Amino acid sequence: MKQYDEFYMKLALEEAAKAEAENEVPIGAVIVHEDQVIARAYNRREQEQHIFTHAECIAMRAASEAIGSWRLEECTLYVTLEPCPMCAGAALQARLPRVVFGAADPKAGCAGTLMNLLDDARFNHVSEVVGGVLEEECSERLSAFFRTLRKKKQRDS
Ligand SMILES: [Zn+2]
Repeated sequence: MKQYDEFYMKLALEEAAKAEAENEVPIGAVIVHEDQVIARAYNRREQEQHIFTHAECIAMRAASEAIGSWRLEECTLYVTLEPCPMCAGAALQARLPRVVFGAADPKAGCAGTLMNLLDDARFNHVSEVVGGVLEEECSERLSAFFRTLRKKKQRDS
C-alpha cells in the first residue's frame, strides 16, 4: 500500500544517508517481513571493494539470517535505486514476492528500465515491482552526491 511504501522508503533513504556519510554512493535498502523491518543496509562497495556489497545484497543476506531461510517469501525489498542485474537476479533467487524502488536507473536498472528480470514468466519466479516511490527524493540524493563529487574533483585537480 502506498502510504506504507513511502514509510519504508523513508527508512531506505535513511540508510542511503549513512552510505553518503561514508563517501559511498548513497543507495539504501530495507526488507520488511510481516510489517517488521528485518534488515537495513546501505551500499558499501568502496569500503569493501566488492560488488556483493550493494545495499540490496547486504540486506537480503541479513534478512535470510533473521528469518533463517534463503527464501524471502512474504518479504518486501525497498531500495532507493532500481536494482541492477545482480541484485534483481538475487531477489529472484530469494523468491522475493515484492520489490519496491525509488529512482529508476537508466544505466543498470533491471526492474523495468533496461529490462525486467523480476517479471519474466520464463523464470520460475515473478515478483511484483513497484517503481517511483519517493522518486524525487531518491534521485535527488544521488544527483546531489555526484554534484559534490564533481566539485571535489575539480577542486583537487
Ligand atoms: Zn545491485
